Amino acid sequence: ATKKEEKTVFGPLKDEDRIFTNLYGRHDFKLKGALQRGDWYKTKEILLKGHEWILKEIVTSGLRGRGGAGFPTGMKWGFMNKPDDGRPKYLVVNADEGEPGTCKDREIMRHDPHKLVEGCLVAGRSMMARAAYIYIRGEFYNEACVLQQAVKEAYDAGLIGKNACGSGYDFDVYVFRGAGAYICGEETALIESLEGKQGKPRLKPPFPADIGVFGCPTTVSNVETVAVAPTICRRGGDWFASFGRERNRGTKLFNISGQVNNPCTVEEEMSISLRELIDRHAGGVIGGWDNLLGVIPGGSSTPVIPKSVCEEVMMDFDDLVRAQTSLGTAAVIVMNKDADVIRCISRLMDFYHHESCGQCTPCREGVGWMAKILHRFVKGNARPDEIDMLYEISKQIEGHTICALGDGAAWPAQGLVRHFRPQLEERMAQYHAGQEEKQAAMLY
Ligand code: NAD
Ligand code: SF4
Repeated sequence: ATKKEEKTVFGPLKDEDRIFTNLYGRHDFKLKGALQRGDWYKTKEILLKGHEWILKEIVTSGLRGRGGAGFPTGMKWGFMNKPDDGRPKYLVVNADEGEPGTCKDREIMRHDPHKLVEGCLVAGRSMMARAAYIYIRGEFYNEACVLQQAVKEAYDAGLIGKNACGSGYDFDVYVFRGAGAYICGEETALIESLEGKQGKPRLKPPFPADIGVFGCPTTVSNVETVAVAPTICRRGGDWFASFGRERNRGTKLFNISGQVNNPCTVEEEMSISLRELIDRHAGGVIGGWDNLLGVIPGGSSTPVIPKSVCEEVMMDFDDLVRAQTSLGTAAVIVMNKDADVIRCISRLMDFYHHESCGQCTPCREGVGWMAKILHRFVKGNARPDEIDMLYEISKQIEGHTICALGDGAAWPAQGLVRHFRPQLEERMAQYHAGQEEKQAAMLY
C-alpha cells in the first residue's frame, strides 16, 4: 500500500491548501483582488503546454465531478478528445445550482468569480472548445451581475477572447441566465433551455460529448469542478491527489445547514469524518452531539442517515455509498431531536412533485403519489401497510425514468423508511389513539 492509502485521518485542511480563499467575508471579488490571490498566474504557460498536458494533470488529480454524480472529470473531458469533424466544441458550465441545501457554487460566483472564468479557459483548452456558456440559475441575479463583470474584466485585460492571455488560442465566455426551473440543472434539460426550448431532459445516449448544445460536442461540468482546474494545473495533479483517499481525492466545498450553531460553507479535505466537519466548522449540533437525530449528507436527493451512522461515516463518495446514501452536492443538512424528520421528507417530496417535468409516468405520477402518502404520515392518519407501499413505489420509480430527478425523489423516501420506521409507526399510533379519545368523548 502507498503512503496515501494508509492515511486514516483526514482534515482539517491548512489555510495554504485552500483553493477558494475569498469565501470568508472579504468582498474583493474584482480582477485586482483575484490577481493578488494568485488567479490568472502563468495561465498563458498552462495554455501553451497544450490540451493533452492539461487533461493529464486533471486525470492525475483524481478529480471527480462536484455537481453530484461524481463522474471522473479527466475521463469526461477526455471524451471530447476526438478527431475534428468540423463542428465547434463547447464547454457548458452548470451554474443552475438548485438542489435544496446547496449553495457552494453560489459562493464561488459571488466571491471568487475569476476562479470560474479562468477555469472556463483552462477546462475549455483541455477539450479544444471554442467557447464556454455559463448557465446560471435565474434566481442568482446578483451573482450573474458579479460574474458578468468578471467576464468583462477578463475580456478587457485580454485574458479571454481573441488570443486569450497572448497564447494564440481564441476563447469566448458567455453568461446565460436560466428562468428558475430546478430541472434545468439536469444537463440535457439545461442544453435544451440554452437552445431556447422548454427545459425537458433528453434520453441519454447520445451523451452531450457526441450531441450537445446546437448539435455540437459539449461537456457540461459543474462550477466547482471547472473552478478548481487552474489551481490543479498550477500546483500539479499530484498535489490535489494528496488529499483524501483512493478514488476520493482532493479538497471539496461543503455546505453545512440546519440545526447547527454556525451554518457555513467551508472547504475541507475529502474523506473528513462527518462529525469532525460539523463540530469543527459548524460549531456542533444545537444541543450537543447527543441531541442529533440524523443528517441528509449531500443535498435533498441523498437519503437521510440516523445518528448511529453519522458517528463513523466519512464525507466521500465511497463511504457514503457504503452507508446507503451518497455525497451528492456535499450539502450537509443537520436535524436534531427538535426536528420532525417525517415533515422534512414530506416537504422535500412536495418540492420534487412540483419540479417534475412530467415526461415520464413513474416520476409524474409516482412522486405525486409518494407526496400524498407522506402528507398522511405527517398527520399519522395513514394505514400501516402504506410504509411498505411508500418503499415499493420509490423502488418502481428508481432507475425507470429519463433523468435523475425520479431517483432523487425516490431516495429520500427510502432513507425515511429504512431508518425511521419506528417514528412513522409511533405517529400513526398517536393519531389513532387521539381519534379513539375523541370518539369516546363524543359517546359519553
Ligand atoms: P449521471 O451519472 O447521469 O452523469 C454524470 C455525468 O457523466 C454527466 O455529465 C454525463 O453526461 C456523464 N457521463 C456518464 N456516463 C457517460 C458516458 N458513458 N459517456 C459520456 N458521458 C457520460 O448523473 P447526472 O444526471 O449528471 O447527475 C445526477 C446528480 O446530480 C444527482 O446524484 C444529484 O446529486 C446531483 N444534483 C445536483 C444538483 C445541484 O444543484 N448541483 C441538483 C440536482 C441534482
Ligand atoms: Fe421529467 Fe421526472 Fe422524467 Fe426527469 S424523471 S424527465 S423530471 S418526468
